[in-house]
Order: sequence, then structure tokens, then C-alpha cells
Amino acid sequence: MACTTNAFSLSLSSKLTTNLSSDSNPKLNKHLFVTLRASGSGELNLGRLVLSRPGQLSRRVCANATQVMDQSVGEKSSAAPTIVDVDLGNRSYPIYIGSGLLDQHELLQKHVHGKKVLVVTNTTIAPLYLDKVVDALTRGNPNVSVENVILPDGEKYKNMETLMKVFDKAIESRLDRRCTFVALGGGVIGDMCGFAAASFLRGVNFIQIPTTVMAQVDSSVGGKTGINHPLGKNLIGAFYQPQCVLVDTDTLDTLPDRELASGLAEVIKYGLIRDAEFFEWQEKNMEKLMARDPDAFAYAIKRSCENKAEVVSLDEKESGLRATLNLGHTFGHAIETGLGYGEWLHGEAVAAGTVMAVDMSYRLGWIDSSIVKRVNDILVRAKLPTAPPETLTMEMFKSVMAVDKKVADGLLRLILLKGPLGNCVFTGEYDRKALDDTLAAFCKS
Ligand code: NAD
Repeated sequence: MACTTNAFSLSLSSKLTTNLSSDSNPKLNKHLFVTLRASGSGELNLGRLVLSRPGQLSRRVCANATQVMDQSVGEKSSAAPTIVDVDLGNRSYPIYIGSGLLDQHELLQKHVHGKKVLVVTNTTIAPLYLDKVVDALTRGNPNVSVENVILPDGEKYKNMETLMKVFDKAIESRLDRRCTFVALGGGVIGDMCGFAAASFLRGVNFIQIPTTVMAQVDSSVGGKTGINHPLGKNLIGAFYQPQCVLVDTDTLDTLPDRELASGLAEVIKYGLIRDAEFFEWQEKNMEKLMARDPDAFAYAIKRSCENKAEVVSLDEKESGLRATLNLGHTFGHAIETGLGYGEWLHGEAVAAGTVMAVDMSYRLGWIDSSIVKRVNDILVRAKLPTAPPETLTMEMFKSVMAVDKKVADGLLRLILLKGPLGNCVFTGEYDRKALDDTLAAFCKS
């Protein structure tokens, strides 16, 4: 059977399905993988594969969560971190998840290379967590010196000019190739610090300490780094993996409600594209998440990281499969770019974009109406938008979507839901009328 990871050259005549286990004990079962089904229609269709115990994971299957939490919430969290491994050969790394992890100094220190560290953060996060992170890096470790650079806060500063401030500080501080960059903040800081680390002296070590839900469930994992261009989101960047990701869930205590909800858009995404059971768990637990129940959050972060880690391990550089993580993002990026960066939060734009992608999937006849309703309902419960801003026109959507990174040879490829809940396709083969109809349904002009 011939197989390629390029969704547009997939031409499999038969179906590939892998099922690693038939264990039916729900306490032991973990849905940890995708069932890859490739059809001759030029699309990559992704579902789920049931995997029994963490110990049954093959080396190739990467998201190996130790100290696995049960799906039921309410049990007391332990001080030991949950660890999800991102399996990328010699670039593999752990994601540590737990409460109070910034007090466990050895976790961070063992991933610091060299004697000089540059913490990259912003004006909002520095007063909250910079001292704590410096302490975590230096306590009992006097040989390490820590510099910091505090950037202006906001998506609109995710650009070349702000990036230069990181390089200025690194060069002024005479950092050499053995230094470590630490990203302390949300997705904007993580993306910029990661890109700076990828390009400073052609690559230095870096560590992610994500402090938003968005960053803890998505952006800190997988090595996508970069900045925006005035004409499009994240158009300049690099794939560059960190040494580790340290998710101290206590940092969410200071996160504003709107930012918390924004991150949930990506949590919901994992359920829709590949993990129906997780989506169903979210339907049962959305109020707990909105009320910041720590155990519900710990579970949602772990499960999200497992999903992301698995996809990234299979397709690090986004040949096909990884693109499915961008459900709703093509419409969402058009909203962010069209409105001006920072007007809507990334997750808010993704939520509205997801509704549009789901609407289009339904128009194509690929999903039934119950999924449309469930998506709408869960986004409303998460206090996320279910339609784009009224000021955006069809023309604005089309012009921004034309420079999306998923355009290949002039063809806009989209992630659309297809089949039962938890299945999606990444494809350029769809009826253009469905896209036009969706845009017409959501835009006033
Ligand atoms: P953000 O980084 O702008 O953070 C949101 C706001 O919360 C900011 O004002 C920040 O200062 C503040 N903040 C952060 N942590 C806080 C805390 N603990 N307490 C109080 N305030 C805090 O936004 P975000 O939603 O984290 O990330 C969005 C960015 O991530 C976008 O640029 C998006 O493109 C990117 N992203 C990247 C990937 C990837 O794979 N690299 C994936 C998803 C999103």
C-alpha cells in the first residue's frame, strides 16, 4: 500500500485501520491515537483508535501520560506532575502538568543548558510570575545567571519590531550558544520566544512555561513558533521544539475569564477532530471548567496535550495530519486579520471559525444536524462567539483566506468535519458553492 503524508497526493485504494486493543475496562482505556483512513478522494480522514494502558504504547505512539487521572473529577491532585511525552526521536521532550510545579525547582533546572538564561515575558505576566520563575531557575543553582526581557503585551506586538527587543537583550547580555531562552506567558510570548530561540545564533535551547489555557493546551506544545505579518497571521516562523513544557496550573488563577474561555475553543477542537469521548466529557463538565475546577482543568489540559502530542509526533512539520489541528482557524485567522490583531482573542476567532467550518461541513452533507447543534451549544456554554463580527464582508474573508498557509497551488484546503463526531478531513476537494454559501450565511455583504 502506497502512503504519503501529503493530503493531496493521497491515493490509497484500500483502507488502513489499526486497533491496538479491545480492552473494555473504562478505567484502563485511553483513546490515544488516530485511525488513519485514506481514500482516493484526495483527503486525509482522521478518527480515533482505542489504546488500553500507557504501557501498551509503542515508541511511535508518543503521548505517554504517567500518573494518569481518571475521567471523574473531584479527586485531590497530587504534587507529582502528570507527564505527557512528545515523542520526536532525539528532539523528544516532556510536558509536565500539575499544581505548584514552579516550586519544584529541579523540574525546570534539569532542562536548563549552560549558565545563562533569558526569560522572555510581558508587562502583565512579569509582575505576577517573573520572580517565581527566576527563583525556580536559580535556587540551589548559583552558577546560573538569569536575564529577562519584558515585552509589551498583546497580539498586535507579535511582530518583527518586538522580536528585535529579544535579540537586542540577548546580544547585549552576551549570551552564547549554550544559553537557554525561557518563554513565560501565553501563546504570543511562547510563539515569539520560540522563534527568537530558533534564530538566535541559529538556534539555542528553550523552555516553555505557558500561563494561559490557550498556551497550556495548545501553543506551547509542538514547536510552531513565529510572528504575524500585517497581511496574515503567523506567516513568518519556524518549527522549533522546546526542551520541556512546564504547565503550572496555578498560574491560571490570575487569568481573566475571557482569556480562559478563549483557550477552551482549542480544547473543544480536539474533541471535534479526533476525540469524541473527550467532547462528550466536555459536554458533561463545561460548567466545572468555566468555574475553574482544578481537577477538571488538569484533566482537560492533560487530554488536550495528549491529543496534540500524538498528532505532532506523527506529523511534526504539517505535511497533512497536523493541519487538522487548525479546525476553524482559516476562518478564524481571517477574522483576526480582518478586524486587526487583538480585537478578538485568538480562541474567540477560532470559535466563530469552527462554527463556520461546521456549517460548511453540514452544507456538504458530511455531518448530520445534531453535530451542528452540539458544537453551537458547547461554544455558547463556554461563552464563546458562534458567528463572526458583523463588520467582516465576504470579500474580506476571501482575500485573507487566499494567503492562508494551507493554500497549495492556489487551492484553499480546509479542515472540515466528516462522518460521526470525532472525525475530520483536510481537503481541497469540496464544492466551492458550499464555501460561498457559508460565507453568505455569516456575512451581511
Ligand atoms: P496571549 O499570549 O496574548 O495571552 C492572553 C492575555 O493573558 C495576555 O494579555 C497575557 O499577558 C495575559 N496572561 C497570560 N497569562 C496570564 C496569567 N497567568 N494571568 C493573567 N494574565 C495572563 O494569548 P493566548 O491566547 O495565550 O495565545 C494566543 C496566541 O497563541 C496567538 O498569537 C496564536 O496565534 C498563538 N497560537 C499558537 C499556536 C502554536 O501552535 N504555536 C497554537 C495556538 C495559538
